[in-house]
Amino acid sequence: MPTVVNCPHCQTKVEWIPTSQFRPFCSKQCQLIDLGEWAEEGKSIPCGASKDAETTELPDIEDIEAMLSQQDSGFFKD
Ligand SMILES: [Zn+2]
Repeated sequence: MPTVVNCPHCQTKVEWIPTSQFRPFCSKQCQLIDLGEWAEEGKSIPCGASKDAETTELPDIEDIEAMLSQQDSGFFKD
């Protein structure tokens, strides 16, 4: 049996398998929402965030989508 985790946003059970693209989230929506909250809470961003320390603007949803599409370029391709 695959490992099952709870979606951090809505607590839906998500199987930790390759086809669960948004794990640990249950869906893209939960992933995007959580990323948005993550940014709003000002948690540290893993790579290269400090150079933008003077800029406190939050990324909008399109920026997040673009970021995700870079990670999953094959999936978002037209
Ligand atoms: Zn969810």
